[in-house]
Amino acid sequence: MYDIIIIGAGPAGMTAAIYARRAEKSVLVLEARSYGGQIVSTPEIENYPAAPHISGFDFATKVYEQAVELGAEFRFERVTGITDGSVKTVTTSGGSYEGRAVIIATGSECRRLGLPGEDKLAGRGISYCATCDGGFFRKKDVAVVGGGNTALEDALYLSGLARTVYVIHRRDSFRGDGATAARLRSKDNVKLVLNSRVTALEYGDRLTGIEVTDNDGGVSSIPLDGLFIAVGRTPENAPFAGLIELDGAGYVSASENCRTSVPGIFAAGDNRTKEVRQLVTAAADGAVAAGEAIKYLEGSGF
Ligand SMILES: Cc1cc2nc3c(=O)[nH]c(=O)nc-3n(C[C@H](O)[C@H](O)[C@H](O)COP(=O)(O)OP(=O)(O)OC[C@H]3O[C@@H](n4cnc5c(N)ncnc54)[C@H](O)[C@@H]3O)c2cc1C
Repeated sequence: MYDIIIIGAGPAGMTAAIYARRAEKSVLVLEARSYGGQIVSTPEIENYPAAPHISGFDFATKVYEQAVELGAEFRFERVTGITDGSVKTVTTSGGSYEGRAVIIATGSECRRLGLPGEDKLAGRGISYCATCDGGFFRKKDVAVVGGGNTALEDALYLSGLARTVYVIHRRDSFRGDGATAARLRSKDNVKLVLNSRVTALEYGDRLTGIEVTDNDGGVSSIPLDGLFIAVGRTPENAPFAGLIELDGAGYVSASENCRTSVPGIFAAGDNRTKEVRQLVTAAADGAVAAGEAIKYLEGSGF
């Protein structure tokens, strides 16, 4: 029996483990893959306070080592569900564990285009996060794929950094906010490529360009330094769908206090409803969720 079971060893889950161990609670962290979460796929983090040029893997390793040193136990097993009760039972690919409180910190995954070479080029010209990686493309030529608000905001942000920003969208109008689209259209260095899809990636060691096919079948090539893919995200909350309230997009409905619809179950990081999905907000959620879990344990007489 653990005081707190944390699902996911990304920045949110591992920060929650640090805070819970500092409060001397027993902690089990269950992770489906390896520790670190999404951040391990970025070669350099530029925006985390006091760590201006650290690789994602080094960052994750430092947080992991800190949690282990404080006494958090890690098991690398995928969680398949939670059974609620005054004690919660968390089932995994390897067995089941009992906890008095649970923090779900399963993050989210960026949707991919599914093109050959895409996985290999992540961090080598392909990015899923303009705020994170835009700084690497100052005065360079980049494209954003997508037509929703994230794509429009990414393109607007990149237009202040890059030499040229192409926006590739499969329809003739954007799904995203009209005012943002209008601001984008007014930028001299933004070129809209509508009614078109990215149909191939061109690359050697790094991305060198994209093949674009328009809705009439016309094929062209755009040389590029960077491609930002903003076609949506998928939160990893499927195992909890029948138990806690999720919003229409599958994010856990939880506010800044990280409480879910079920007492004793908390959500931290990219998997919950929020505006900004970044390391700093994931770590903040980890601290808040741990604090709320501790309050819950004390209030429940555990
Ligand atoms: C390429 C890239 C670059 C980025 N660069 C930056 C940057 O420079 N600065 C910045 O601030 N942010 C950056 N981000 C965003 C940042 O990585 C995320 O905001 C942050 O990792 C979210 O942390 P999290 O712990 O909520 O979720 P995640 O990092 O997604 O971690 C969730 C963890 O839960 C695990 N998990 C999921 N389902 C289960 C399950 N059923 N059972 C057990 N474990 C499970 C996953 O395997 C994963 O390890 C970047 C993201 C990407 C993809």
